[in-house]
Amino acid sequence: MQVMDGKRFERCVNFKGLPCIDFGKGYVVFDPSSLKKATFPDLSWTTRKEDIEALATQGFRFRERLPDYEAPTDEIHLTFILTTDCNLGCKYCYTDSKREKLRLSADLARRIAEAHVPAGYAGSVFVQLFGGEPTLNFETIQAITEAVEARSAKPFFYITTNGVMRTDVLEYLLAHRYGFYLSLDGVREFNDLNRVTLSGGGTYELVEKTLDQVLVRKAPLKVRSTITRSTVGGMERFAEAMFRRGVKLLQFTPVVPIGRNAGDDPVDDAFHDAYLDGLMNSIDLARVYGASILTPLSLALKRAPKPYCKIFHDDTKVLVTPEGRRTLCYGVQGDFNRNSDRFLYGEFDAEDGQFRVDGAVKERILQAYHHLTDSHCDHCFAQFLCNGGCLAENLEANGRMDELNRSFCSLKRKEAYLLLERVLT
Ligand code: SF4
Ligand code: SF4
Repeated sequence: MQVMDGKRFERCVNFKGLPCIDFGKGYVVFDPSSLKKATFPDLSWTTRKEDIEALATQGFRFRERLPDYEAPTDEIHLTFILTTDCNLGCKYCYTDSKREKLRLSADLARRIAEAHVPAGYAGSVFVQLFGGEPTLNFETIQAITEAVEARSAKPFFYITTNGVMRTDVLEYLLAHRYGFYLSLDGVREFNDLNRVTLSGGGTYELVEKTLDQVLVRKAPLKVRSTITRSTVGGMERFAEAMFRRGVKLLQFTPVVPIGRNAGDDPVDDAFHDAYLDGLMNSIDLARVYGASILTPLSLALKRAPKPYCKIFHDDTKVLVTPEGRRTLCYGVQGDFNRNSDRFLYGEFDAEDGQFRVDGAVKERILQAYHHLTDSHCDHCFAQFLCNGGCLAENLEANGRMDELNRSFCSLKRKEAYLLLERVLT
């Protein structure tokens, strides 16, 4: 891959919030929010006031640091981690669901939903269900769905699922217009390497049945694929197979070395380069089939810059653990995770129907975030895509939230370069 050989991405910079990219024929300065771009032979323009002013007049938005995130005022976001239990035994899973099976009770979930969605609410309510495997807690799915439907005219329900569920549960989700984030890692021979049942059998056929139903009923769908060293060679084949079936949105994520199998599937530069090859080839295929691959860049264009993880910046995003507590991280749910305490934010007070939050927890996380981004990301051309990345991964990699996960950072810089190259050249 050219970018890996020439290391041109290492010469790219961030000038007052905008990426300046060396594509080998000069530098392109790009404003992702306005899509404006201009080319210069080198970086000397960044020292000339008149050039900077001319670009600003054309609509380039320069800034000294990433603006504070502005939370929407007419939306409610509720995410429930319904259980740590799972009916599969995927080899890379971070939840360690076999050790402890926690479930959010239907009654508590209903009370939390009612406490956060005022009766007759006119704005949009986004409800995300997450696990473990959330469909294992059907009683609580029903309680949340019915509570939110009764109070809001504009509910949007989404479920992140492994796709292995009872027929009546699937029917219920389809009938209540759920959107599906469905996990499938490749065509059968690749998927079944990692995504296995508790007894070790393949899961492709089981998920395929759900996929077909979701497609036939035209429910909103994103297929999510976790890529490991053993499946990275099958990305394009899988993308094509999904697009042929009618899937319009696919997201690849390289495996994160966190959790009970952190050491089993090494994540190194060679793996990342193979992942990026597969990603870029799959983007080409998506164009042929009129489909899309969801990437950090597709989420960033024509929008105000946002932090990688919005939950620390937006108190209207409520994330509930299976114990009914409020947390500030999706990735460390449950008492089994050694880092879960660092993100626990509050307990639900059933009497007055509110979470009692501990502001010091959020303050500590935000301090780490600012320290990290001030010291590393304010000068990085990929800042508008990641800005420090996932603090839970940093913690796992370094024992600190405010130190970069070098492996993630290196991947993000290469990925940003390749994605920008497609848009800008
Ligand atoms: S810190 Fe990382 S795992 Fe936790 S919510 Fe943010 S992005 Fe997700
Ligand atoms: S984490 Fe790395 S790639 Fe991301 S903005 Fe910071 S320095 Fe750049």
